[in-house]
Amino acid sequence: MSLDIVGDDLKVELPTGESVRFAHLDYAASAPCVAAAAQAVGELLPRYGSVHRGTGVRSSASTIAYELARDVVAEFVGAGPEHEVIFTRNTTDALNLLARALPEGTVTIVFDGEHHANLLPWPNQLRLPAPGSPAEALESLEEALERTGNPALVTVTGASNVTGELWPITEIAALAHRYGARLAVDAAQLAPHRPVGLADADYLAFSGHKLYAPFGAGVLAGRSDWLDAAEPYLRGGGASAAVGDHPGDLEWATGPARHEGGTPNLLGAVAIAAVCAALITADRDALHAEEQRLLKRLRDGLPDTVREVSLFGPDHPRVGIVSIAVDDPAGTAQRLARDHGIGVRAGQFCAHPLVRRLTGDATGSCATTPGLLRISFGLGSTDDDIDRVLAALRSY
Ligand code: PLP
Repeated sequence: MSLDIVGDDLKVELPTGESVRFAHLDYAASAPCVAAAAQAVGELLPRYGSVHRGTGVRSSASTIAYELARDVVAEFVGAGPEHEVIFTRNTTDALNLLARALPEGTVTIVFDGEHHANLLPWPNQLRLPAPGSPAEALESLEEALERTGNPALVTVTGASNVTGELWPITEIAALAHRYGARLAVDAAQLAPHRPVGLADADYLAFSGHKLYAPFGAGVLAGRSDWLDAAEPYLRGGGASAAVGDHPGDLEWATGPARHEGGTPNLLGAVAIAAVCAALITADRDALHAEEQRLLKRLRDGLPDTVREVSLFGPDHPRVGIVSIAVDDPAGTAQRLARDHGIGVRAGQFCAHPLVRRLTGDATGSCATTPGLLRISFGLGSTDDDIDRVLAALRSY
């Protein structure tokens, strides 16, 4: 199925009266929908019904579609029999679910450069300063693991939502595992750009709306044991296998159902699976090469008046996300939208400690930090999108 963008030809009118194609350069916030997702949802809708509840053609078609979606996502992340794929609302939901499923006493180790979704949910937190290089990340992590003892969960992003930089997941996984710890990867920004899998990570979380499937679902995939032993994330129907007459007289379901209380988001799951299926068969190397070509075009063309921020240095590999320091990020973003028909994002991108550090405003408050301007792209982005934002930035 197709990875073409739905609404690729969306037009906006500029103050001059000229009509231009909207240049969407805010994929890191929410990517547009691809045809595969829209088509899968459209095809299922005439048979839409309850999942795991009921009889008849709608319910059975919907139940089959939902479980098939799980199988496809399992293939996408390389899940085996020791893993579960749980449909959630988004990455935030997935990470909160995992945070509540940790065995008692688990220490969580997290760098402060994380998106708030991967910074705030964790109990018993050992928070490390964002490192200045991958080697520094491994060094401070090892020190923390030595201090901590078992059980521990290390949780890191796969790709930064601020700088786009890739984190050394394979090395972090090897280190964590050497100390008997587990690794969770926030793949919200990685999954749309690079293959992701459970070969390194013990848990992966990502969002449909960032993976071209904006129908309100997300994924937590990972090892079953902690998940099956944990209290259900949402107490209610679906999560319960048997309920007696007294409050404590109940048996919880195991497997994904344990944490998917209530009626699931069938269309969201089916949309994610459709994109996963399309990506499984796509030429990922070619997609990667095209994204890197656009990234180079953007970075090479940035005017001297702006400064690109980075944690690991300008040569470190990254996905199609670039944040720049400009005088007035919010005002610049507004002008780009109003005068040029370009959508970007300004601010602190739910990563306040990291943005404060990258802007050199380490002592500033969230309220006073102006933040950064972020340009992000992906499937369907063009040279013209990049050239237009560069031309606009040069004209300021
Ligand atoms: N993690 C990262 C790296 C993100 O960029 C985001 C969203 O921007 C999230 C987590 C949270 O994703 P969601 O808002 O879909 O829960």
